[in-house]
Amino acid sequence: PVHRTPEIQEARLKLPILAEEQVVMEAINDNPIVIICGETGSGKTTQVPQFLYEAGYASSGGIIGITEPRRVAAVSMSQRVAKEMNLSHRVVSYQIRYEGNVTDETRIKFMTDGVLLKEIQKDFLLSKYKVIIIDEAHERSMYTDILIGLLSRIVPLRHKKGLPLKLIIMSATLRVEDFTANTRLFSVQPPVIQVDARQFPVTVHFNKKTPLDDYSGECFRKVCKIHRMLPAGGILVFLTGQAEVHSLCRRLRKAFPYQKNSTAGNAVETTLPKIDLNNYSVVPPDEGDEDRDFDSDDDAAGSDLDLDLGDGDSGEDEKSDSSLPLYVLPLYSLLAPEKQAKVFRPPPPGTRLCVVATNVAETSLTIPGIKYVVDSGREKRRCYDRITGVSSFRVSWVCQASAEQRAGRAGRTEPGHCYRLYSSAVFMDFEKFSAPEITKRPVEDLILQMKALNIEKVINFPFPTPPPTEALAAAEELLIALGALKELKQQLAAKLSCPISPLGRVMATFPVAPRYAKMLALSRQHQCLPYTITIVSAMTVRELFEELDRPAGSEEEAAQLKGRRARFLQMQKVWAGQGPMQKLGDLMVMLGAVGACEYSGCTREFCEQNGLRHKAMLEIRRLRGQLTTAVNSVCRDAGLYVDPKMEPPTEAQVTYLRQIVLAGLGDHLARRVQAEELLDDKWRNAYKTALLEDPVFIHPSSVLFKELPEFVVYQEIVETTKLYMKGVSAVEPE
Ligand code: ADP
Ligand code: MG
Repeated sequence: PVHRTPEIQEARLKLPILAEEQVVMEAINDNPIVIICGETGSGKTTQVPQFLYEAGYASSGGIIGITEPRRVAAVSMSQRVAKEMNLSHRVVSYQIRYEGNVTDETRIKFMTDGVLLKEIQKDFLLSKYKVIIIDEAHERSMYTDILIGLLSRIVPLRHKKGLPLKLIIMSATLRVEDFTANTRLFSVQPPVIQVDARQFPVTVHFNKKTPLDDYSGECFRKVCKIHRMLPAGGILVFLTGQAEVHSLCRRLRKAFPYQKNSTAGNAVETTLPKIDLNNYSVVPPDEGDEDRDFDSDDDAAGSDLDLDLGDGDSGEDEKSDSSLPLYVLPLYSLLAPEKQAKVFRPPPPGTRLCVVATNVAETSLTIPGIKYVVDSGREKRRCYDRITGVSSFRVSWVCQASAEQRAGRAGRTEPGHCYRLYSSAVFMDFEKFSAPEITKRPVEDLILQMKALNIEKVINFPFPTPPPTEALAAAEELLIALGALKELKQQLAAKLSCPISPLGRVMATFPVAPRYAKMLALSRQHQCLPYTITIVSAMTVRELFEELDRPAGSEEEAAQLKGRRARFLQMQKVWAGQGPMQKLGDLMVMLGAVGACEYSGCTREFCEQNGLRHKAMLEIRRLRGQLTTAVNSVCRDAGLYVDPKMEPPTEAQVTYLRQIVLAGLGDHLARRVQAEELLDDKWRNAYKTALLEDPVFIHPSSVLFKELPEFVVYQEIVETTKLYMKGVSAVEPE
């Protein structure tokens, strides 16, 4: 029996899915596979696990597993469900790549989709689970897709064994044909339960004009207008990245300062932002409105006209107004968890909440009390070349489905408004849905995992949407080059059916990309393992260093940033080591930075002083621990442990490390263009790679930027103004 507090019980009863509990549970009892569709915020993630628990699916030792594509969601949802059910974290737990709080008592387990895929490797039938819920299936993350494919086979196998497993797929949109209409995936079409969205109407206001570049400024002006003119209610702004989020937060805080200790903070709750009634009359929106209204663009009629703020170029002044405190919070995935959690708490009395977010706030987290959404219509995506793996971050238009999700965030608790900073004509040109991740990125890590599951003919796998054949071929070729797959005779290899090699099996046990796994598998000699583990952890976690080139909000901040940048450059030289060590380049810097940080106890102060991202350093620490355990278990005599006082490597070890790095990143080799080859000026200081026609360059942030060694290997190529190599190391190929 579950004992919920009266407050929780009351909040639950408001969720649309509660009304469907019986329908949902009957469908699950009667069918092995069920699909549940329901608007974000309808209660799928927090309630369905509770229904199952109360129906006895976790009794007699079984576990209810829920997968999430995002780490933030796995952690925060497990905490929420534990709280709602009044159960301890020992019973409602989470596991993400680097950490978790799962115990023997765990009955409801939230995890990232990648974690469950690893578990399938250890126990293909997932025997300890009674139910698997695949959440946020509409996001079509690569691991979610692959799990659905695998589970389509595991469910019948478990049935045959007389130990049935239930599979529940949950999606925020109704677009599930890729799952339902795919007979290779599910030969019997699973029932789809639709949870009626008890959303309040959201009125959508399009801009007449579409700002082409300064959408951030446009967001600022729109928020100012909403805050000055419209009734109480939280504002949620969608921007594309961390730097933009911070810069808008700064501007808004300056315009509407909120002092923690000001009297406003102690005032009674009713001091809402003032509305200037002389300039403005507020008419409440018509509650009877049907769903959402997309037609208010050029239309001058309608009861919402008074809330239509028009396009924002009417000279909003930026002078600060402390009589209207705005409680501004940033939200993005790299933000420290304790800062992320702030958005769930009510804002201080007398202030209005304004969350400036990236698309993490789109479907996985529901922020309470949002009445106004300001949508820039853009998102930042990491785009890959499927074959070369070259990636670039591009700001592009969202798809229509995302724009609708964003708008929906305004109608959770009362009727709301969404201000789209683009015209309805531009919206009509958006793609309807974005393509599944699996079709857009290199798949070598996925293919290695699949081969480790003895799925040799990956091309026959029941993918919800298959990756392009050329991406499969590129992955298979790389894995053969790394020695992870046994090369078969030519004509067989062309059919993409090479089996895994013993080395590949070892590599597949490390939770890192195949290139890095190869480096780990090679590091037994010369006591290099602790160093390789550290370098691989740092390369996997990414974004170790704080962005110190960011634009400053004030002169004071600019001076401070300049000082920190100078300090960082100094430290970078120290970490890069001396003499032959310097040849390891950026990887030596990573090693040195992690070593120094651990030596100092990995404190926040040390990180701040030295330009390191504290959250990244903590993740590296966890991943080092995890990789150390993984290495010890394949190589029983290694006896490794994570040493916080790790000595720097010797010269001989550095030489050996460079060979290891070359073995792992061998296909990422680049040769400096020689003077006699310099026919075109665009090749000045450039490198030539095997995969690309175009010149590539060492990124200016690299310690080897001035050095220009003849041969280098790189961690990745990122395209900005040019093709830049990052994570660069000098090598001497044989
Ligand atoms: P869905 O999965 O259908 O999108 P959820 O189950 O995530 O819906 O959310 C249901 C409700 O639970 C939402 O109103 C949301 O605001 C609330 N909720 C979720 N997490 C928290 C939290 N940490 N604190 C307070 N409320 C929360
Ligand atoms: Mg959810």
